[in-house]
Amino acid sequence: MDPNVLHNLSYGMYIASSVKEGAINGQIVNTAFQITSDPATIAVSINKKNLTHEYIESSSRFSLSILEEETPLPFIGIFGFKSGRTGNKFKDIKHIKLGSGCPVVLDHALCYIEARVTKKLDCFTHTLFIGEITDSRMIKTGRPMTYDYYHQVKRGITPEAAPTFIKGEMPGINKEVAMQKYRCVVCNYIYDPALGDPDGNIAPGTPFEKIPDTWVCPVCGADKSQFVKEG
Ligand code: FE
Repeated sequence: MDPNVLHNLSYGMYIASSVKEGAINGQIVNTAFQITSDPATIAVSINKKNLTHEYIESSSRFSLSILEEETPLPFIGIFGFKSGRTGNKFKDIKHIKLGSGCPVVLDHALCYIEARVTKKLDCFTHTLFIGEITDSRMIKTGRPMTYDYYHQVKRGITPEAAPTFIKGEMPGINKEVAMQKYRCVVCNYIYDPALGDPDGNIAPGTPFEKIPDTWVCPVCGADKSQFVKEG
């Protein structure tokens, strides 16, 4: 099997959220899709180890926020590389709670969908939750972020709990640039001096050594001391 083939499947970037006894949580998912139009049904694949899985099991409700192409990496990092078990991810995030109690983010989301679980499928490490849509609303117009855009343009990476995780995968590296790249040991994000970190106000062409000490990993928030030379 050639795992590179799987990179050619197309996905989006979403936050799947749920609620359990008033507590809320959400996580980045790329594997969400419409199943039928009548009844209007969607599905989402969630890792069994994740807190959001526990919440969906409990309330049988979930929401999906569809992220815009401009969504900054740190925002994705809050929902993709942190666990709701160690803190409330929504604490500093503008959001509302829907009729079911599920939260949806208002920043960087084009729209949201809320669903009630009608079926679920045990898929080894993940559960595929299938839900009938109970609510949906547009927030603003724009282009949805695709998973490919996240990888190629935003240079984001795939957490181990994602359905599409491939062991040993690293983001694309520009081999023509001689400047030393650095890798975050927490999340494997690679700082490439040729690209800088525009979301973090680091201009392209800035060597790692010249980045201010106040800068943090745009994906997981780790500080500069958590970076090691790459390659
Ligand atoms: Fe990191």
